[in-house]
Amino acid sequence: MKRALVCGAGGFVSGHLVKRLKREGYWVRGVDLKPHEFAPTQADEFLLLDLRDPENCRDALTLPDGTFDEVYQLAADMGGMGFISRAECEVLHNNALINIHMSHKAAEMSVARYFFSSSVCVYRDMQPGEPALTEDDAIPANPDNEYGWEKLYAERLAMAYGRRYGMKVRIARFENCYGPEGTWRGGREKAPAAICRKVAEAGDGATIEVWGDGTAIRVFTYADDLVEGIYTMIHSDPSTSSGQCLEGPVNLGSDERVTVADLVKTVIEVSGKKITVRYVPGPVGVQSRNFSKARIKSLGWEARVSLRDGIARTYPWIEAQVRTKALAAQFHRA
Ligand code: NAD
Repeated sequence: MKRALVCGAGGFVSGHLVKRLKREGYWVRGVDLKPHEFAPTQADEFLLLDLRDPENCRDALTLPDGTFDEVYQLAADMGGMGFISRAECEVLHNNALINIHMSHKAAEMSVARYFFSSSVCVYRDMQPGEPALTEDDAIPANPDNEYGWEKLYAERLAMAYGRRYGMKVRIARFENCYGPEGTWRGGREKAPAAICRKVAEAGDGATIEVWGDGTAIRVFTYADDLVEGIYTMIHSDPSTSSGQCLEGPVNLGSDERVTVADLVKTVIEVSGKKITVRYVPGPVGVQSRNFSKARIKSLGWEARVSLRDGIARTYPWIEAQVRTKALAAQFHRA
């Protein structure tokens, strides 16, 4: 039986990844600062550890016998644009420590395969209509925020440890990911969850506020598609039947490019409500995104869930959370 360590298993993407690994028959250890907020973990073992500490990284990686076959490093201090822009010191400090210690310890402890979750935030801003950037276009670098700079550094760190210790390192640059069982309130939620929440909280005929002017272009990738991409990538190898091996960073996300206004419209349509949208100033981030998916597609992966279908699966989950929270508040007041 293969054994996998999933770092950040109390979080959104890792929660879905653990389920996927269990379906594949793995023994899984999850590790995080906190338990998963929305679903009981399916990991065989779950350790509460702060991975900024090298000793905790070693404990996370230690097994009674042998070493982990695969380590998935998704732990990060992160959130949507609002959080990233106001917590830039924490993002740089905490994420650099996690990645420095985890990639070092994993390599030193002879882990065979190491996956690192980077982000398309490593790229510069783009203008609508610009041709797609490839992975190599991240250099010369000019990320829009400190979160992206740290990811760029952590990519290089993981690759350097991979070269020195012979650890197979796979790095995906995730596009914005959404789906059920992700943060939907509190300031760390991303745009799809925030908009679903605002619409779910609004009464029929109400007005919601959305940051920016709605013209920013984004790609939103459904969690199941992203997890499938992670799983495909970590197993890419010259020795596999496809003969493909994706060393170096790889863009991972859907091909469906939409404006923020399209996203808002989709959520409103799925909700069945009549809602007016007022665009207000706020931390929007970059204006446009357009990244080549040729490398990940060379492994046979492609996104299968459209934005419409993904929102149709996500909105009811967030609506149920909003309803449960409102009922709990009523109960406490009574
Ligand atoms: P998330 O916030 O839901 O999960 C990250 C988890 O890391 C959290 O549960 C958090 O508690 C944990 N963590 C933070 N600091 C820690 C520490 N010191 N020790 C142990 N655990 C710690 O985020 P997510 O959306 O699931 O993202 C997973 C990864 O994917 C992150 O590395 C993120 O940067 C990257 N990513 C995500 C997206 C996206 O849209 N979700 C886009 C690009 C990149």
